[in-house]
Amino acid sequence: MSARVVITGAAGFIGSHLAETLLDRGHAVVGIDNLLTGDVANIAHLVNRDFLFIEHDITNYIYLDGPVDFVLHWASPASPIDYLELPIPTLKVGALGTHKALGLAKAKNATFVLASTSEVYGDPLEHPQKESYWGNVNPIGPRGVYDEAKRFAEAMTTAYHRYHGLNAKIVRIFNTYGPRMRVRDGRAVPNFIAQALQGEDLTVYGDGSQTRSFCYISDLVDGILRLMHSDTNDPVNIGNPHEMTVLQIATEIIALTGSRSRIVHCALPVDDPRVRQPDITRARTLLDWEPSVSLTDGLTRTIEYFRKKLAETPVAG
Ligand code: UDP
Repeated sequence: MSARVVITGAAGFIGSHLAETLLDRGHAVVGIDNLLTGDVANIAHLVNRDFLFIEHDITNYIYLDGPVDFVLHWASPASPIDYLELPIPTLKVGALGTHKALGLAKAKNATFVLASTSEVYGDPLEHPQKESYWGNVNPIGPRGVYDEAKRFAEAMTTAYHRYHGLNAKIVRIFNTYGPRMRVRDGRAVPNFIAQALQGEDLTVYGDGSQTRSFCYISDLVDGILRLMHSDTNDPVNIGNPHEMTVLQIATEIIALTGSRSRIVHCALPVDDPRVRQPDITRARTLLDWEPSVSLTDGLTRTIEYFRKKLAETPVAG
């Protein structure tokens, strides 16, 4: 059955992939974005489809005519570099923006999906991370603006579910990569690929022994769409449990790009989580979901995108 889906943050990396996949599946999409970290280039190819774009800051009231079946709330800066530069907009979109997006879903009697994050677990003392883990977050550290905004957003979403009966879902997204990440995104995979392709040193923070688990974008989108149509209202981790050190992913990217770049070590950011790996038992059980794209395939596709992007507009790393 065809649905009308609102996506906040539709011009972002994940938002634009969600919009495209939903259109491919025959749904109508309304994308909202204030373009703070999003880019219209990510959605330009969707204009002739059943896609309406509204440039709007969702910390202000959202006016929208007609029925809405789903609200996917994706708007937020999400790269550590962005939320360090934009601490107050990050807190505002997580708090006020989530309130407005929930209000829209409630008014339209729509199903709501919150883009939450593995950052709610902070620098985790439990490994791998299950949804039942409450986390280890420093509220006044530099990452606190994002982590606490998302934790607040989860609490607000849960309150709308409990007190207003809203059909609300929470996806905790772990590190994801793929085409449409920005060249200057600041996160590990886009940084390393852009550096390797431009023959610059790869900047590994600290000794590179900290771990992450990287999921390819199409696997993530598949998991989100399964959650959206599921019966569950409990938070669900979506991510790839294949864990590796930051040094390993940097080395892999040098090999796959065939670059002569070397690795240099820079200061480790404050409160950088030591380890991260999703326990995806819940997604496997409730959604019958499992990632299927290998790191080599995912990186190869992402490198191809970055090669094209850099050929259009070379950017200093
Ligand atoms: N990182 C790095 N070099 C970079 C960018 C990131 O070594 O140029 C490290 C960062 O310190 C962290 C990991 O890579 O340990 C993943 O960082 P990212 O910014 O991608 O996201 P996070 O998982 O920290 O939110």
